[in-house]
Formats: sequence, C-alpha cells, structure tokens
Amino acid sequence: MSESVDTLFINAIVLTMDEKFTYYEHGCLAVRDDSIVAVGEEASLKEQFTANEVVDCQGKVLMPGLINAHTHAAMVLLRGLADDLRLDVWLMGYMMPVEREFVSPEFVRLGTQLACAEMIHSGVTCFADMYYFEEHVARATAEAGMRAVLGQTVLKFPSPDAAYYEESLAAARQFILGWKGHHLIVPSVAPHAPYTCPPEILKACSELAVEFDVPLHIHISETARKWKTCATKTGCPWCRMSKKQRLFEAKVLAAHCVHIDDGEIKTLVNHKAGVAHNPSSKLKLASGFAPVSKMINAGLNVGIGTDGAASNNDLDMFEEIRLAAFIAKVHTNDPTVLPAQTALAMATRLGAKALHIGHLTGTLEVGKRADLILDSSPPWMKQPC
Ligand SMILES: [Zn+2]
Repeated sequence: MSESVDTLFINAIVLTMDEKFTYYEHGCLAVRDDSIVAVGEEASLKEQFTANEVVDCQGKVLMPGLINAHTHAAMVLLRGLADDLRLDVWLMGYMMPVEREFVSPEFVRLGTQLACAEMIHSGVTCFADMYYFEEHVARATAEAGMRAVLGQTVLKFPSPDAAYYEESLAAARQFILGWKGHHLIVPSVAPHAPYTCPPEILKACSELAVEFDVPLHIHISETARKWKTCATKTGCPWCRMSKKQRLFEAKVLAAHCVHIDDGEIKTLVNHKAGVAHNPSSKLKLASGFAPVSKMINAGLNVGIGTDGAASNNDLDMFEEIRLAAFIAKVHTNDPTVLPAQTALAMATRLGAKALHIGHLTGTLEVGKRADLILDSSPPWMKQPC
C-alpha cells in the first residue's frame, strides 16, 4: 500500500546539493507538511506515494532555495544613497547618521517587505540579517514565508533603536525571547563589529548567544584598514582579541573575513564558525579579496551573501555566486579554483551550515524543510517551447 503525502513534485531534474552532489535526471520529491519525506527517481517514488497535489515540474531544475548568508534587508530603502566611497566614510559619514535620523519600525517593515520580494525573485528562500528594530524584520519575513536568522544589532554608538549599548543588548534579549522556537525565524544577537563594539560588548553578546543557544552574527575583518585599527588598539589580531572575549563560545556567523591569516582561519575552523563571503560589496568598497578557497579547503562553512543593498546595490544571489567563483580564480591566478558546483554549494548547503541551520535547510534531503526553487535558469538556458 502506498503512503500518503501532501505534494509530489514530478518530472524534475532534482539537484539535492547534498555532500555527494547527488542529482536525479528523472527526479521526484515528496513533501508532507513543511518537510521533505522522500527524494529520488520518479518511477520508484510514484509507486511508494500517493499525493493530494501533484506538481509537474516540466523537466525544470528543482533545487534547494538559495541562502543569502549576510544582508541588512531594510537597507534596500537606502540603495544608491551614497556610492563610490571608502567604507569608513560611507558607514560613519553617511549610513549611520542617515539611519539614526530616518530608520523607524515602519521603515524597517517596508524595507524588509521589499527586500523579501527582491530575494524571492532571485531564488532566495532564507537569509541572515543584521539590523535595527529586528522584531519588525521578523514579522515582515515570516509574513513573506521566508526562513531567516535575524540578528538584533548591538553597538557602542547611539543607534536608531537604542540610545546606548545596554539598551540594545536588552532589546536583543527581548527579541530572542519573543522569537525563539518560531518555525521560520531563528533570532540571534548581532554585535556590529570589533571596531564598533568594545570588549565588554562582545563578551556580553557572546554570553547572551550562549545562554539561549542562538547564533551570533558579526562583521569581521572587513578591510585592511579595520584590521590594522583593531590590531593597533588591542595589540593583537581581531581573532585573538575575539577569543579573549570568548566570542567563539557562541555559534558565530562572521561576515567578510577578508584580511585573515592562516592562524585565524584555524581558529574559525576550531570553533566551527560560519563565514559569509560578500563578493559585490567587497568589490564596491574595494575592501580586498577574501581567501575563499583557502577557507573552504580548511573545512570552514563559507556561505555567500549580498550584504545590504546600499553596498551592492542589489540582492541578486545568482550574480553573487558567479562573482564568488570568478573572483576566487583571479585572486589565486588559478582558473580551477572554486568550481561552479562549489560556488553553488556555498549558496545552499555551506550557507545553511554557516548560519548554523544546516539541520533545517540547504539541501534536498529527507527530514529537511521543503525550501525549494524551480528553474531559476537564465533565459539562454531555457528550452524552446
Ligand atoms: Zn554587512
């Protein structure tokens, strides 16, 4: 007797993006509630399952939804506001002052809604965010039906939603308490960066993340200038400094990691930290090239992110995947580095692991959530009708 499921996706080229890159030319996928029950060859699965709904994928590619590993969703409303500037001038001279003046719950709600629409359009089903009024980011994201790891920002300066850091830390605690256990949203705490968070803030954020067993999202080693500042102030590289504050006791998602050495890569590996590589944003701000293939070869889970739309200026993940592959090649002067399937794995399986939600999403495997996309191929790849 056949087993009953809610939906059967048939007639698909199924890319599972699992460790072995298993795919099925004549593939099929069975879903019950929000989870994958089976994946395999169509002939076999059709015998095993009856479904309330059958979706004919018409020979298109069915694969895991893309994961945008680092963004500031609501910043779509600041897109193009201040281009062609150095990071510190852009951030401290333009973005932060504008945000303090204009960012409100309404701004965040509308910006996140727009960002979700833009991300869904480019095949994204899950993202990691770091911003203010994160409660409103969470509501808009859940309404859009997207999965996300959302970080309430904590930093030493007055911010749009906190006059001082203790207030932003208290807001992060409230946010985590309110959303922990939600079926789509994983709340987290986001100390902005080592250069905007003194040691006591990093330590407090780490303790909060450990207390609730949630991820900690932070910008790390974004530019050579920031690396030097951090090293000069603390007398040691950011990584050793962060270790001192026990930052890595938390499940860290480190955005950028552009200027890091072998020892720092080792530290990230030892602490199972995830990394978000942001190709467009680093090109635009001329921050340098992250040693992506080195990090992956060392065993790090490196995902791909768009960063905020103000430093990109879009949220197109397929563009980021292409750039990630190409930049790694030119950076190492080796065209065999970061092949296409690795770049795609960064935007799916590795990205999910970098966000510390690899048990939920990132591959099409039994037990994972059915976060699916169908046929995101560009027009030149489409079959004539
Ligand atoms: Zn960022």
